[in-house]
Order: sequence, then structure tokens, then C-alpha cells
Amino acid sequence: MPLNTPPKACNCCRRDLAPDGDIFEAQEAIQISFLTGYASVFGDCNHVYGLFCQHCLHELLGPYLRTEPLQDDQTQANTP
Ligand SMILES: [Zn+2]
Repeated sequence: MPLNTPPKACNCCRRDLAPDGDIFEAQEAIQISFLTGYASVFGDCNHVYGLFCQHCLHELLGPYLRTEPLQDDQTQANTP
């Protein structure tokens, strides 16, 4: 799939992440997008993109991530 048309499913488990589906799953999806440079393990001058559901992110990276409660100002910024 071209990078300019992001998938609406988790790249790992294929869970539907379309906003018109389960809105809570779509809201918790994590998109990774970055450009690579010289000596990158992803190759030089590439665009790396991935969309992951919260379940796969937790399974793959959970042991390496810290989880802390939001501060008051972060809670307000995180409220639609
Ligand atoms: Zn997934």
C-alpha cells in the first residue's frame, strides 16, 4: 500500500482501526512515521511507516514503556 494512503488496519494483527468502526480502538491506535538517515538500520533515506493497535503495541513494546498518570494540564489537553 502506498505511504500516502495509510492503512486503516493494524499492520501486525490486521485489527480494523477505521474511524467509522470501533472508535475507541481507532483513537488508541499508534502511528509511527519517520524518515531515515545515514547508517539507519532501516536504510538510508527511507520513510518508515506503521500503524499499530493498542493491543499489539502493548504486546510488542509494553515491557519497555513507562506508564504514568496524566497531570491536570495533560488531561485537559487530551480531552476533545
Ligand atoms: Zn494489532
